[in-house]
Amino acid sequence: MDAGEPVCELPARLAERLRAVRSVGAITGAGVSAESGIRTYRGQGGIYDDPEDGERTVEALSGPTLLGDPDRTWRAVAALSGMAVHARPNPAHRALVEMERRAARFVLLTQNVDGLHQMAGSCNVIDIHGDVAVTECRGCGARGRIEREERAHLRAAPLCAACGSVLRPGVVLFGEMLPEDKVARLRAAFYEDPPDLVLVAGTTALFPYIAGPVQEARRRGRLTVEVNPEETVLCGTVDFSLRGPAGVWLPAIAKALP
Ligand SMILES: [Zn+2]
Repeated sequence: MDAGEPVCELPARLAERLRAVRSVGAITGAGVSAESGIRTYRGQGGIYDDPEDGERTVEALSGPTLLGDPDRTWRAVAALSGMAVHARPNPAHRALVEMERRAARFVLLTQNVDGLHQMAGSCNVIDIHGDVAVTECRGCGARGRIEREERAHLRAAPLCAACGSVLRPGVVLFGEMLPEDKVARLRAAFYEDPPDLVLVAGTTALFPYIAGPVQEARRRGRLTVEVNPEETVLCGTVDFSLRGPAGVWLPAIAKALP
């Protein structure tokens, strides 16, 4: 942890239960990236809910647009990347790295596509919506990467160096299915033997595949904790709801683990 990071005091009952935690399943969403200065997608001020061009952005970032007009999809990717070009991991990202170091078993399920968890040093990450830095060739299937500085300047769809076909961004676009391999990893990590602690941070947990692991953990008697500045649909589901930034509460939780 960085010196001088604010650490809030956890409820005593939570601190006591955290001392017995051996395995951790963390779930993160846009709120964690927002604390690094990345604009959120949904809600007030969100990119997709922007009254000016939110709908056009959603349409540009959809499966059908990628097929019909890939340049348009990539221009939208470039615009989003340009807004995030200087974002760095924050105390919440670093606290999750610390949790992975301490826990016997750790998995991080994230909806974020910005790669900040990996940049911070998290290893066992299920990026269920993909990673925007990854590219996949629509012709030969070759995978590659385009880092954000370069991505932010794209004006057209990049082409495969091997076969010349159009590349696609390695993210789940609107109207597309979740990748089967990642869904299988999610199920194995959260349903076969749920972690002792399931921790949700910075997400309103609207998607069933995000809320589901929390409900399953609760049903099977695991410790469930939610961290969010605002109330969410999970408030009534979890054992502990901590109100405030992930960058404040996650370091406190990491410290309390054995
Ligand atoms: Zn190719």
